[in-house]
Amino acid sequence: MADPVLTFTERGIYCPAGDFHIDPWRPVDRALITHGHADHARPGHGRYLATEAALPVMRHRLGAIAAEGIRYGDVRRIGGAEVSFHPAGHLPGSAQIRVSVGGVVWVVSGDYKTAQDGFCEAFEPVPCQHFVTECTFGLPVFNWPDQARVAREINGWWAANAAEGRFSLLGAYSLGKAQRVLSLLEPVAPILTHGAVEATNAVLRDQGYVLPQTLRVTPDLDPKAHAGALVLAPPSALGSPWARRFRPSATGFASGWMMLRGIRRRRAMDRGFVLSDHADWTGLHEAIAATGAENIYTTHGYTDIFARHLSEEGYAARVVPTEFGGEEDDSAEDAA
Ligand SMILES: [Zn+2]
Ligand SMILES: [Zn+2]
Repeated sequence: MADPVLTFTERGIYCPAGDFHIDPWRPVDRALITHGHADHARPGHGRYLATEAALPVMRHRLGAIAAEGIRYGDVRRIGGAEVSFHPAGHLPGSAQIRVSVGGVVWVVSGDYKTAQDGFCEAFEPVPCQHFVTECTFGLPVFNWPDQARVAREINGWWAANAAEGRFSLLGAYSLGKAQRVLSLLEPVAPILTHGAVEATNAVLRDQGYVLPQTLRVTPDLDPKAHAGALVLAPPSALGSPWARRFRPSATGFASGWMMLRGIRRRRAMDRGFVLSDHADWTGLHEAIAATGAENIYTTHGYTDIFARHLSEEGYAARVVPTEFGGEEDDSAEDAA
């Protein structure tokens, strides 16, 4: 029997025919990267290959790296493998990676969502025989409300706070979620941003992604001059002294985890908005069915439960060991 196209090693997913890794968590010579989040794009690799749209953020975060960009859909031969990158709908530039060796096709999903958010490149199903899928939200309780409804909730909350003279402090991960939230806002007052959010905004604006006007919070900024502002910051900044200058305020958090009441309470948020850049239960099933794959490998999240569920549905499903650490999107809550 021929070697499998992809194998699972202690450094991450490996392709023997092409001698490269996908999203490896330890330094390797050649890394193919699905997207810029820290649990996927780590420092220290010899060479990087990612979509042209993902590279600017990776360079911003990783500094000087030897990296090459590839366009969505272009096919490149690496050793005995053919590889191509396809939109994952997770955040701007995010990709699923297709690897074909001798007619056998594997796809590594990276992080993905199937619902279109109107901001990043829309998810595209890629036919394959073997599909490595994330399952951050691989439980039946996770089904996302319509994005338009969540947008109305956020805008309504902001307008009500502004009318009562409060700031709206909204927590969102600085890469991806923050910009998606920005794309949904209907400003009733200025939008202020934490430096980590604004630095990512600048990179994406340079690439041509359109975002509303924002103002970075600097030490000399006078909150009184921006009454009723919405303040967008990474979740970690909300409980810190940084946020205390904005008073009085209401606090909200945009994340898939906001579906769970216990987590809302633990985070002491006034409001939780259910907004995730990962597929929900239905989305995972739709994505898997659309590949036509019979062999499914689960990674990231509720891997055991989800693999068992898929087995009961007739798939050949197994769990892929993942090394956690450096998570910075919705995966974070699960790792904690
Ligand atoms: Zn991610
Ligand atoms: Zn991830």
